[in-house]
Amino acid sequence: MSQVKLIVSNWKMNFSFDQAENFVKKLKKIKFDTLKVNNIICPQFILMPLVSKLIKNTNINLGAQDCHYKLNGAFTGDTSVELLKNLNCNYIILGHSERRQNHFETDELINFKVKTVKSEKLKPIICIGENLKERESGKYKEILKKQLQRCIPSNLDEIIIAYEPIWSIGTGHIPSIKEIKEIQDLTINFLKMSKSINNIYFLYGGSVNADNLGNIMNSSDINGALIGGSSLKIEEMKKILTLC
Ligand code: PEP
Repeated sequence: MSQVKLIVSNWKMNFSFDQAENFVKKLKKIKFDTLKVNNIICPQFILMPLVSKLIKNTNINLGAQDCHYKLNGAFTGDTSVELLKNLNCNYIILGHSERRQNHFETDELINFKVKTVKSEKLKPIICIGENLKERESGKYKEILKKQLQRCIPSNLDEIIIAYEPIWSIGTGHIPSIKEIKEIQDLTINFLKMSKSINNIYFLYGGSVNADNLGNIMNSSDINGALIGGSSLKIEEMKKILTLC
């Protein structure tokens, strides 16, 4: 498996046009080893044409925060994979807990989206994660397996999974290395055995910053991180992109 770490910035619903432009200009100046890091930024949809233009021929890749499961049609307010592809978008985050919570996205819907994104030769980044109650109940492993079972189609060539415990997103609380490793092993074993998928990229997401990422990367063999809050801070990104 490739040694390149995926650093995925989830900008969520942040940045004006000016702020995005200024930020990307600064991001473009950061020197990092592209053999070690794949720098992917996921702006909100309306910023994507601007960002796509700004990062053309640079070491930054474009991702989206969601898409529709149909290629086109009467789906008011939704965004198609086809148009994202036209913007040179290569990655699409699917099943983020904020979409599951705020837009009632189900595992079954996410499965449809994964199939569509794969059929269009883009790379889905599929989020799984348990909430605090589920973690404390001790049933989190069964819950995560169920998410994997329902969200992930079988026989894919490769897949990117982002483990984002909901209790860690935006809270400053991160799991221990042992806890991350436990879910990494569970994910890889489950997808190999039950879905016949061998190329699995496992990312961690939840309160990642420049101070804790080094330890996470050094003490585990995860393939990268999905980053929310810290991805909006240029000084954090400078450290994050150069520590991998
Ligand atoms: C996220 O929401 O994907 C995320 C990881 O957020 P944060 O880094 O702010 O916890």
